[in-house]
Amino acid sequence: MKTVGVVGWPIGHSRSPAIFAHWFERYGVSARYELIPVPPKEADAFFAALPAQWDGVNVTIPHKETAARHVVLEGAGARLGVANTLWRDGDLVRGTSSDGEGFVKSLDAAHPPWRDAAGPAVVLGAGGAAVAIVDALIAEGRTVMVANRTAARAEAIAETAGVTAVPMEALGDALASAGLFVNTTALGMAGRPSMNIDLAPLSATATVADIVYNPLETQLLAAARGRGLATVDGLGMLLYQATLGFERWFGIAPEVDDELRARVVATL
Ligand code: NAP
Repeated sequence: MKTVGVVGWPIGHSRSPAIFAHWFERYGVSARYELIPVPPKEADAFFAALPAQWDGVNVTIPHKETAARHVVLEGAGARLGVANTLWRDGDLVRGTSSDGEGFVKSLDAAHPPWRDAAGPAVVLGAGGAAVAIVDALIAEGRTVMVANRTAARAEAIAETAGVTAVPMEALGDALASAGLFVNTTALGMAGRPSMNIDLAPLSATATVADIVYNPLETQLLAAARGRGLATVDGLGMLLYQATLGFERWFGIAPEVDDELRARVVATL
């Protein structure tokens, strides 16, 4: 029986066990998915010689960069120097990041016409999630603009990725031309300050996405829906980023369906 899991610190909040339990049942796979708490001071040693008991692992905060330093990276993982999915290939451990791809897949699943809207994708936020999403949107051929409370972080992404940084004061102007607006900040999360952005400049064909998934309908998405705009919640990204690990470890491309969504929503 294969044993896989998710490495992080702390790790008790992870929804990954619920996601994988659903797919194990759905596809009749006999395997275990475990929570693997690794404190930061032990992370280098853990990833430098991934213990033999793990056939593969997901990696979450705060270890995505540490993991990346010790594995053979591909795709987005190699471009960004982060890894959230590791798998064995003979004696090698390979890894990549599926966060950005998971985000794009969630857009395609929830609202395929997002691709038809002209205008740039405006990304709010400049943390790890923003970096992955900007990379994936560029890979899809989109023009990207980034805005962030701490302007220097948006400027750093803009320089590295070759996109445009927008000062917060000019966000309204950027939204006026946007085909897609994405919140990648923690604003709107349960227990965090809410988002206070005026969506009036957005055109009627723009899609609004939020990667916060607790609550499922954030204030941002409720405001966008109130304006009649298409919205995409953050649960899809969480579910689609997990498909890569299942495929690499068990050779099956798993489906993200309503039953899986309901099962994970029940854990929120
Ligand atoms: P991170 O690296 O810590 O970045 C946090 C971002 O949020 C930064 O841009 C930060 O701005 C901004 N921010 C935080 N508090 C703010 C406030 N009060 N006002 C304005 N901006 C604020 O975090 P991350 O890993 O990118 O994750 C960001 C969010 O995405 C979290 O809520 C996380 O749960 C969610 N997420 C969801 C998924 C999914 O699968 N759906 C995946 C990854 C992350 P500054 O630079 O100015 O501090």
